Amino acid sequence: MAQIIDGKAVSARVKANVRKEADELKKQGIEIGLAVVIVGNDPASRVYVNNKKKACEEVGFTSYEYALPEETTEKELLELVDKLNNDDKVNGILVQLPLPKQINENSIINAIRPDKDVDAFHPANVGHIMIGDFSFLPCTPAGVMELIAETGVDVCGKNCVVIGRSNIVGKPMAMLLLHKHGTVTICHSRTKDLAEICARADILVAAVGKAKFVTPDMIKEGAVVIDVGMNRNENGKLCGDVDYDACFDKAGYITPVPGGVGPMTIAMLMKNTLTAAKIKNNIK
Ligand code: NAP
Repeated sequence: MAQIIDGKAVSARVKANVRKEADELKKQGIEIGLAVVIVGNDPASRVYVNNKKKACEEVGFTSYEYALPEETTEKELLELVDKLNNDDKVNGILVQLPLPKQINENSIINAIRPDKDVDAFHPANVGHIMIGDFSFLPCTPAGVMELIAETGVDVCGKNCVVIGRSNIVGKPMAMLLLHKHGTVTICHSRTKDLAEICARADILVAAVGKAKFVTPDMIKEGAVVIDVGMNRNENGKLCGDVDYDACFDKAGYITPVPGGVGPMTIAMLMKNTLTAAKIKNNIK
């Protein structure tokens, strides 16, 4: 039977540590600010943005919300990013993805100052992550690493399989596992013998976006199973990529959805924003 990795508890700990440091900085007159930009009316994006604002309150940051209409042009959004890049009160800039189709996401990501890029999506930060010399870690993969650490399982030398190769989850996830000396395989929609590859994993990270994608035959007995997926099941309930109930007895450790990776992503965003403020103020 698997042990549940409690993302809520781990994220609460991360946020409490961020709060402690933020309070110390406040005593030195340093206020920390996160700008959160949302374009359009996507309900899921609205939920994420609200959660991020709530987390800012919890850790003592000021959040600045910019809610722009669906028809916002790329030029208008670039102008806002430029303004935030030059705003001293803003330590971190987060533009909630996805953006409406008239806006090229890469243009926006590339326009955010790398030292305010708390999502770590800018190519400069991606490059830093690749060579293992980074200030910011992408929030979701960094959160997953914290959850793996929580199990006490050492990544070094383990077979690690990541399902998914997106720029925001799969690829950086694989890189972080590699930095911890895992032997990493990245799977995607063209992978052959996916189930067999997964079944060899000591650590399996699913970032596919398909409910009940990972079934017990894809899991090695006792494996660490991390579910990044956020999907809706047939009843509209939030669920992950792993068939949780079916896999529970076989996995050694497993993350629930909700209450696993999701809360960690937000906690790591707070940590990155704190890091941005410390770098700006030359605080180690
Ligand atoms: P994405 O950009 O859609 O990438 C999905 C990946 O899954 C792609 O690499 C795709 O392969 C692969 N895939 C799709 N079907 C597959 C199949 N049948 N077999 C093997 N691989 C398959 O999604 P994402 O942005 O990485 O997000 C993945 C999931 O994580 C989503 O549910 C998302 O909502 C969730 N998410 C959660 C958090 C959080 O905080 N918990 C944060 C971010 C994302 P190809 O590249 O070949 O198409």
